[in-house]
Amino acid sequence: MEVRCRHCCKSLFKGDSILFNAHHEVKQGATDVGCQADESDCSYMIPENVPDIFMDAIDQGSWTKGKLHCPYCKSRLGSFNFVNEFKCCCDKYVKPPIRMVNSKVDILYESLR
Ligand SMILES: [Zn+2]
Ligand SMILES: [Zn+2]
Repeated sequence: MEVRCRHCCKSLFKGDSILFNAHHEVKQGATDVGCQADESDCSYMIPENVPDIFMDAIDQGSWTKGKLHCPYCKSRLGSFNFVNEFKCCCDKYVKPPIRMVNSKVDILYESLR
């Protein structure tokens, strides 16, 4: 799996099991949002394996809350919030604290495994 900035097309990070859906499950594809009720269309990350490119922003935000930007073109890609809990629209799950807006990035999955 690879994530690229949609604005500047640069590769942001690669790897497996980095992106989660709203229900804390590893995303199985770019359109896997996890929850039928969730219309925010985001991908989520957890503190245990935040990609390096976002780590600085989170450190600078002192692990409270802030925004995530592309390190190359500075486009806003998402946000993080360790202060408040956001429940999923179905009310059964609390969403992971770091989120990336799907429309800001291209999420590429290999078609064959
Ligand atoms: Zn960019
Ligand atoms: Zn849900």
